Amino acid sequence: MIVEGTVLRGRSFEPIEGRVVIDDGEITAIEEERVESERIVVPAFVNAHTHVGDSIAKDAGAGLTLEELVAPPDGLKHRLLRAADRSELVAGMHSSARLMSETGTAAFLDFREGGPDGVTALREAVADLPIRGLAFGRGDPAVLDTADGYGASGAADADFSTAREAAREADKPFGIHAGEVNARDLDPALDLEPDFLVHVVHPEPDHLDRIERQGVPIVLCPRSNLATDVGTAPIDDLHERTTLALGTDNVMTCSPSMFREMATLWSLADLDAREVLRAATVAGAELAGLDCGVIEPGRAATLTVLDGTSDNLVGVKDPVRAVVRRADRADVVKTVR
Ligand SMILES: [Zn+2]
Repeated sequence: MIVEGTVLRGRSFEPIEGRVVIDDGEITAIEEERVESERIVVPAFVNAHTHVGDSIAKDAGAGLTLEELVAPPDGLKHRLLRAADRSELVAGMHSSARLMSETGTAAFLDFREGGPDGVTALREAVADLPIRGLAFGRGDPAVLDTADGYGASGAADADFSTAREAAREADKPFGIHAGEVNARDLDPALDLEPDFLVHVVHPEPDHLDRIERQGVPIVLCPRSNLATDVGTAPIDDLHERTTLALGTDNVMTCSPSMFREMATLWSLADLDAREVLRAATVAGAELAGLDCGVIEPGRAATLTVLDGTSDNLVGVKDPVRAVVRRADRADVVKTVR
């Protein structure tokens, strides 16, 4: 397969005119030359943190605190999940995964409720879609027999040391929410030596030092944090210390479109558009050991192809800024995976 246009090549997303040559799902060459196509070829996005299970509860719970909304076991989300039947849950996950695919995302890292059956439900939901749904299971560490990783709710909820050790033994990533409402669960979460933290809205200077020393990547969820009114992470401070990835969090709270998430991250921080695009692509891929997120030979060919002649994108002078700040679902010609 050949994909032509303005190609955002490599980790620096340098725009070049030419074509990406794909063989058996792998990028084999990038040929720089004049082409007729007005398309913009971007590495497909990796949504580094979702909860697609609550797709059945969109926009529920206005006015509730974060704890009333999502805290296990009796937050509104969990009551709605218990009341839903399995086919309804799978159908909701399917819709969210399809929306992600149609908004340029090739893979998402989902914190799955429901133990092994929750993992199976996600596999069913994405089976016929051109998107990879990675299940980070929770509950009994035995969930790691089938899950792609372990996704812990938060260090204040339980002792996750057994699950952490089990993930290490299984050679699968261990992620945990931390610092979302306050700083109290950050040290216990860092004590677990996680492969990544999610949120980190309220780190204190000691936590920033630990994050840097331990080299822990962070998944930011800026729209979710705004929606649940917990604040905004010190994005630029975190960027100086570690790798940032980007996720849309609960579908209940935010649509799982990485275009919206990138535009929000860009508007809240001093990050360059390239750094935002890096958070939305290769940084998330590397959390899950995926070989995508960069357009270069030898990488998995997961690409988002945008129409540079759409009313939204025609006349664009800086395609990286346009992808991050302006592009939207209607500009997506296709997601290659
Ligand atoms: Zn979450």
